[in-house]
Amino acid sequence: MTRLTGILFDKDGTLLDFDATWAPATRDVLETLAEGDGALFRRLALACGLDVGAMTFLPGAPIIAGDTDAYAPVWAELLGCPYDAAFEARVNALYRQASLASLSGYDDVAGGIDALIAAGYRIGLATNDSEATARAHLDALGVLDRFDFVAGYDSGHGAKPLPGMVLAFAEHLGIPPQAVALIGDSTHDMDAARAAGAEAVGIGRTPAAREALSGHADMIVPDLAELIRHLAGRERQPLRDGRSA
Ligand SMILES: [Mg+2]
Repeated sequence: MTRLTGILFDKDGTLLDFDATWAPATRDVLETLAEGDGALFRRLALACGLDVGAMTFLPGAPIIAGDTDAYAPVWAELLGCPYDAAFEARVNALYRQASLASLSGYDDVAGGIDALIAAGYRIGLATNDSEATARAHLDALGVLDRFDFVAGYDSGHGAKPLPGMVLAFAEHLGIPPQAVALIGDSTHDMDAARAAGAEAVGIGRTPAAREALSGHADMIVPDLAELIRHLAGRERQPLRDGRSA
């Protein structure tokens, strides 16, 4: 087995608390789009699986793992406007502003990434969010300078579950895809890793994520501390039969 040297993170649900960040942000975006029409607001929320009362998303809602093209066209339809580049750009800009206000990173992100870098790993981000918003989020978390690579669905490598972002990260580092592990909370992440030939590591921050990942990941960790412990343990395994464990 090739030694892992590249750790490629998904963002939402992996580094950021998804519901805490995206439920209030989505409410704000939809209030802007609905322009005070309460019935329209409720239809827009229903269409993307946002439970406004509970400030959570329904399991399987396309907004959880999909890119803008996966959840915004139905909003354009309900608003009676075309889903074109201008509408997509407006939605992304509204989300960038709204999500920075509700941004909620997990407590172990900065320390965990620093520990991985200290252990010799290179760090990247592969998100189905836009690259500009991803960079703004990492900057707000104070960790942008730790990342060798940041890609969004609009960076030119395609979106997950396609393997493009994983392959681009490996190429950027000059390593084979087999030396990359993609850490994510959805089956899109696991499928993108598999399609690229990388390791698929699930991170089960919530019961819903653990359930979604079950049977799709090479391994599932609950948090970054356990990921680091696992990687360190693997490093200590002696070579056996020409393979590392
Ligand atoms: Mg995610």
